[in-house]
Amino acid sequence: MKIKPIIIPTINISAQTNKITVGTLNYSQPDTVSFKRSKNENTPFINDTRELELHCAGCGKLMLKNSTVNDFINKKIYFPAHTALKRLSHEQNFLIKEQPQPMQKTYSFVAREAAQNPNLNIEELIKTPKLQDYIKKANKEQLTAIEELKTRCKRVSHSSQYIVDEIDKLNPDFQKTEAAILQDLKILSKLYPAETIHNILNKPEIKEHYLAKLQKKQNSRLKKVTPLIQQLSPECAPKAETALNESFRIFNTESMDIMHKRTRVIEKFQTAFNDIDNSNDKEIAKLIMRRLEKLPDSKNDVNAFMVKYSRKNENAIPKILIERLRNTNDHVKPEHRKGDEGQNNKKNYLNLCGKCNHERKTDSYSEIIDKNPQMQENTQKQIDEIIDYINKGILTEYDTWPNDIKMPLGFESEGQIIIDTSKLDIQKAKTERAKRREKFTEEEKHKPQNEAVKTMYRRYGKKEQTSVTQQ
Ligand SMILES: [Zn+2]
Repeated sequence: MKIKPIIIPTINISAQTNKITVGTLNYSQPDTVSFKRSKNENTPFINDTRELELHCAGCGKLMLKNSTVNDFINKKIYFPAHTALKRLSHEQNFLIKEQPQPMQKTYSFVAREAAQNPNLNIEELIKTPKLQDYIKKANKEQLTAIEELKTRCKRVSHSSQYIVDEIDKLNPDFQKTEAAILQDLKILSKLYPAETIHNILNKPEIKEHYLAKLQKKQNSRLKKVTPLIQQLSPECAPKAETALNESFRIFNTESMDIMHKRTRVIEKFQTAFNDIDNSNDKEIAKLIMRRLEKLPDSKNDVNAFMVKYSRKNENAIPKILIERLRNTNDHVKPEHRKGDEGQNNKKNYLNLCGKCNHERKTDSYSEIIDKNPQMQENTQKQIDEIIDYINKGILTEYDTWPNDIKMPLGFESEGQIIIDTSKLDIQKAKTERAKRREKFTEEEKHKPQNEAVKTMYRRYGKKEQTSVTQQ
């Protein structure tokens, strides 16, 4: 997914460490939530496949529309800024009277604007003209204050029961791991309905429960490597044994707060096998590495997920869960493949869920198919769904897409994904679109005429209303 640079002069607060760094000029938005609406909001058509109900071309799960995920994060996970700001004092022990002057000033400005716009969360509020204006004129300290308030507001969280219920309402078609995570969260939220997910997972007994289960799995995976090490040559075996002992130590004795243990374990073995020249050793090393790939991680294991994300910010868990089902554009030919970059336009897009997209990185589709042969079938299924939306006149600007994507899919999968686009019926699509447009125009005519004026009132508030009435 693209990270759009924003033009605020630059302060960065890490969401995880809460550290603030001031002074870099290229600030990237840490969040991927976009507030842009489709430019076709006022037409009867959809012109972005991320806004369709589609099954993932990789795992085949029913994805959540891009806008559904944004709305969920903005409206269900984040509080309106108005409420969030009020909760900072008792939830984060953030007492405004004890803050330095620039923060006090910024806080009172933001709080006033938040009260005027009681439905907007902090990200949305910052995009309003008044806040943008404040940001333009603000000094470094005030900008830092804005960033701090943003981070703080985004950490205010709902009760576990509320979040679990809201996720349930989406009826998410989760993959196995995510379904199991939600199941656990449901149980935990019944035990502690009023507490936040973050607080529950950070209770010593709960933390210990997941950590112990995770360590048990890690140890049992590592033990499966031992018989293979014994088959290595006497030159190679001691290095592998050292790596193994180091790995047991990392998993079992290092503090829970140390991150990337799995990655480090894998690296230990990679280093141990760096300079093998014996072909038998090479084969065994390969087998060992394959077994190590099965070490639990946060994408395939509930315990690893809970341990990892309970250390992140307060709203990380529901966000990550929902993000994994987001309908995203995957670049068929990867955008960041070194020396051979794929284009960033729809002729190079296939829709993958957030999880499949993230896991793919720059792998070719043939590598994905090795692990998931269903991808061939699932891709055709998605192509058929999209063709159906085109034929029904719902999706526009995609008439050439099914055939445009044929070749990139073939190349990227080394001929394993050959799609059939014979159901595409452009003539029918044109007829259906004309009907749709006609119906829409007819409906627009009958809409109450003062709708636009009402919208204006809502947007500009009481003052304008009075002046309009006086005229
Ligand atoms: Zn998927």
